[in-house]
Amino acid sequence: MNLLGEINCFAVCLKLSEFAMLVALLIVISISLLAASFMIKMPKHRLLTFVSAQIAAFLAIITTFYLMKCDGMLTIYLYSGYAVISTALIFGVQRFYDRLMIKRLNAKPISNVIGWVQEFTGRLANATVYYYDAAVPRAFAAGKSIFVSFGLLEMLSDDELKAVLAHEAWHIRNNNRAPYMKQLAIMTFSSPGREEIEELADRYAAEIAGSEALSRARSKLDKVFI
Ligand SMILES: [Zn+2]
Repeated sequence: MNLLGEINCFAVCLKLSEFAMLVALLIVISISLLAASFMIKMPKHRLLTFVSAQIAAFLAIITTFYLMKCDGMLTIYLYSGYAVISTALIFGVQRFYDRLMIKRLNAKPISNVIGWVQEFTGRLANATVYYYDAAVPRAFAAGKSIFVSFGLLEMLSDDELKAVLAHEAWHIRNNNRAPYMKQLAIMTFSSPGREEIEELADRYAAEIAGSEALSRARSKLDKVFI
């Protein structure tokens, strides 16, 4: 069945059905949520809104599918595939991403070498801090893990390290590190401004560790904690 045939079939079946209003309502909800997700700045809320829009669209399609007796609905199969795969990617990939990084960097729990770091970070976010052996000072968050290099630990005072940890904890609380947000950015054909996200993370870090510690850490290692 071709696309025109499908559209025709939709129109005819929906006209005859008492569920037409329900389908129309779901479509309106879905479009509104999708529009809202483009305007929302906070990555976490943006993601939730986007997924809700997707669920509403999926329900509309399932309802339509149920009502229609037309077979060979190519668009429905394609869309179902897309919805299942993209949702699995959003929620599945990041779960394995930090496991992968731990292996690749041969990272170890920070509590093996510094006592207070895990406890401090645990109060800010549900995250585990790992260190790895590299001279280049670097810190980043992935999944539910924060990675800091040995070089970074050597270079920073406790206060400055707290600022970096708070910055990364903000990322984890807002789920906006790769590949989670990259996936969303690809699917919505948009990307939240990187600077904007970094600024929000820095604002939080300044709140927790003080703006002086943060700017000292920034000037020591500009661009190496992201
Ligand atoms: Zn950052």
